[in-house]
Amino acid sequence: MKITKHRQKILDALERWFRIHQQGPTLNELCQELGMRPRQKATVQKWLQTMRDIDVQWEDHSARSLRLLRPELETPSLHISLTDTLRYLATGVVQWEKLELQKRSQIPEALRIGMSRMYLASLLRGEQAPENLPQFFDWAETSLTSWKPAQDIKYLSPEISVIEDGVVSDFAREWQVSGNDVVAQVQESVLRDVLEYCRGNQLNDAYRAFRLLIITKPTLHYSEYRQQLRLPEFQPLRELLTTLEIYVDMDKFAEDKAYHLCPRCKYVQRQRPDGTYTCCNPWCERLCATSNLQPLPAIPKEKAIDGNLVMNHVTSFIKKFL
Ligand SMILES: [Zn+2]
Repeated sequence: MKITKHRQKILDALERWFRIHQQGPTLNELCQELGMRPRQKATVQKWLQTMRDIDVQWEDHSARSLRLLRPELETPSLHISLTDTLRYLATGVVQWEKLELQKRSQIPEALRIGMSRMYLASLLRGEQAPENLPQFFDWAETSLTSWKPAQDIKYLSPEISVIEDGVVSDFAREWQVSGNDVVAQVQESVLRDVLEYCRGNQLNDAYRAFRLLIITKPTLHYSEYRQQLRLPEFQPLRELLTTLEIYVDMDKFAEDKAYHLCPRCKYVQRQRPDGTYTCCNPWCERLCATSNLQPLPAIPKEKAIDGNLVMNHVTSFIKKFL
């Protein structure tokens, strides 16, 4: 089938959608994603029909069953951020190198997270990845690009590896994050990426708008998120923010049947042992109490998915600036 303009448009739209959502879009939402009017639904449906069994598939009479068939996007719901994975791996290897010899059988937390993400990312693509520490270190001495997902990184030389001549490579040292709370550090490095990009491209307004957005709207509807990205100040950041997965499906944040949002900062709350909910940020929790803010109604999981709520994952940043 030749690549027609509308076919590519639909593929791009779906790829964008699945970077953020676990379930497929409705026809209405796909129209929106394509920048078309709801009354053009029939046209979009006609286009989809010509792509069925080739690029896309869905179950008749089953809502949100639309999915991409291209192998590399087959399991978009479990898309794993490559840059985060490399940061965990690099940090883990540097931490491991610092361990005394007799403690080296213990895997540092960052390395454990990095390896499991690496393994999962490969699994989803039907590829091989190191399964244990010895296999990992064998791989670490070979080209980074021998791990297929890493080939997606632009300008990465095939000569680069995580370990070179028995020591952690310069590449890994550059990618590592420092500090004790690795998860928070990785989140912060994502923000640093945005900051550096904005600085390098004189996008001060864009950076201000970005900070304002993640602080004032940690949780928002996908349609609103898209509207925001269409604002002139966000235009130059669109691609970057999607790649860094600043906002993702709320579904990825909690296993619970329902979500409880903090009435003040609107982040997903944590459950106390007694079953009640509290903000993850103690300072915010105190302010909620002193201003006597009432809990917000819980959002059932199905509704969160169907309403397409997305949330940003940069909690460490929010905690600092709230
Ligand atoms: Zn809060």
